[in-house]
Amino acid sequence: MKVSQLLNPTLREVPAEAEVVSHQLMLRAGFIRKAAAGIYTYLPLGLRVLKKIEHIVREEMDAKGGQEVMMPIVQPAELWKESGRWDVYGPEMFRLKDRHDREFCLGPTHEEVITDLVRSEVRSYKQLPLLLYQIQNKYRDERRPRFGLMRGREFIMKDLYSFDRDPESARESYRQMYEAYERVFTRCGLTFRAVEADAGAIGGTGGTHEFMVLAESGEAAVVFCPDCNYAANVEKAECVSRPAGEDPGLAGRSGDVLTPDIKTIDQLADFLGIQTSSTIKALLYKGDDRYMLLLVRGDREINEIKVNNALGPFLNLRMADPGEVQTVLGCEHGFIGPVGLASDLFVAADLEVAEMTNAVCGANKKDYHRMGVACGKDFIPNTITDLRMVIAGEPCPKCGAALQEARGIEVGQVFNLGTKYSKALKATYLDDAGKEQIISMGCYGIGVSRTMAAAIEQNNDENGIIWPIPIAPYHCIVVPVTLKDENVVATANTLYAELNKAGVETVIDDRDERPGVKFKDADLVGYPIRLTIGAKALAEGKVEFYTRSTREVELVEVDCVCGRVQQIIREACQA
Ligand code: ATP
Ligand code: MG
Repeated sequence: MKVSQLLNPTLREVPAEAEVVSHQLMLRAGFIRKAAAGIYTYLPLGLRVLKKIEHIVREEMDAKGGQEVMMPIVQPAELWKESGRWDVYGPEMFRLKDRHDREFCLGPTHEEVITDLVRSEVRSYKQLPLLLYQIQNKYRDERRPRFGLMRGREFIMKDLYSFDRDPESARESYRQMYEAYERVFTRCGLTFRAVEADAGAIGGTGGTHEFMVLAESGEAAVVFCPDCNYAANVEKAECVSRPAGEDPGLAGRSGDVLTPDIKTIDQLADFLGIQTSSTIKALLYKGDDRYMLLLVRGDREINEIKVNNALGPFLNLRMADPGEVQTVLGCEHGFIGPVGLASDLFVAADLEVAEMTNAVCGANKKDYHRMGVACGKDFIPNTITDLRMVIAGEPCPKCGAALQEARGIEVGQVFNLGTKYSKALKATYLDDAGKEQIISMGCYGIGVSRTMAAAIEQNNDENGIIWPIPIAPYHCIVVPVTLKDENVVATANTLYAELNKAGVETVIDDRDERPGVKFKDADLVGYPIRLTIGAKALAEGKVEFYTRSTREVELVEVDCVCGRVQQIIREACQA
């Protein structure tokens, strides 16, 4: 491809709307253009990257026996009503009606459609296991579409669904997919980690892992153990309860104390001369139409995912507003506590709170806190369970070593669904004794477009993108520094032809531009190898060989260049 002909509109300025580096660089390097919030057109280079990722994904799914299908984007509401998710999915779902007023949605995911297919086409145990997948657009009307391809409203996903005879066989499918995902992201040249995760709206009971591309800008926080293989999304990570150290500030103090104008736990601890870990943080929550008082230690944060799993599920879980706190507890938010409550308010205490025997909490009276409070004596929670966020440095739930924290971008997730959908939609088969059995399912998503963004988040510098070779839009760019020197132009053209013939995806920058402009664009786009043809080196039979990732420049004999490039590409793409 000639750069003069390529639709690759590069920008010098950082577009104001782009907050994260992948979004900025994809716009600046001319990979995507916005059509509407969270909805993009892929320009030629962007599409090439996408196709490369798709190709790797497809090969790995096929290698595990996956069969590619294509399901409809427009899905009938009836199927979603049958699974019970029509009402659960909420405003993220794009809903529409046809001319007959029948309800449809744009598929945010395809469990319903595929289970409907399988229940009509699979009869016998002989047809199982069955792995079906597609690579296709998904639609989610995200509350905050942002970060370019990272969180789109229309995005590309590979979704595979497994159908097995029994839970054991389903676990094997899960294991196979987990392995395939490791291969996919390794082959894409990305640094990633698989972490235990929460199942969210997809549900199921058999466990789930997220695949995280590690990057500072990642939306997700994960913890991992440096000593054993434990790794989990912080939403999911189990907390080990450890007693806080002795707090001399508490000695001999009890009863209500005046704490005027105290607004935060830190202020309270300061004011009383105690540790924050000696206080109980009480928060009034509302799950659908039910109020709950949640208790965690003052130095901890509530984990709403755990709250939802332990006490819900709720369609809507939120902290009560100050007016609601006043109505339910008759007191200002900052002074509420678990002692002496109206008996019908549900109280859930975190594991650590249950062990507190000399704590400080709100007195349910403006400007007062109560000291010397013991759980089990001064108040009895309705339930005691893990309700809080883990933090770095806490013990690993498996081996006790101090957990470390990292940030990641979720590029894929694997779920063992059990029979959640097959039961609801009656997807069954006849076993070898002719008896009807429910199919065990799994589902496995990869955000193909998000993977493209994640690759950039992980691989860039101040000059632009540094594509991992296996997913680079092209491998190599040939840059003649002048169009006026015949020898330079001829060598550039010959090299360009030779490289393409050898299977190296190569472009030639044939624009009549200054070398500086060409170099800037090449760096921005992130071609892994740039070959610069200039008169001086050429007089000695050499060209300049520039490696984008290391920024190293070498002079290489013209005759050796093609072989050298081929070898680098081959090594990078074999996994
Ligand atoms: P998130 O928590 O980031 O919203 P999710 O857990 O809802 O994602 P899944 O249902 O697990 O997403 O979808 C499978 C994969 O699709 C995700 O791992 C992610 O890579 C990708 N994905 C999900 N939502 C989006 C989106 N809005 N834009 C781009 N990719 C997405
Ligand atoms: Mg997910």
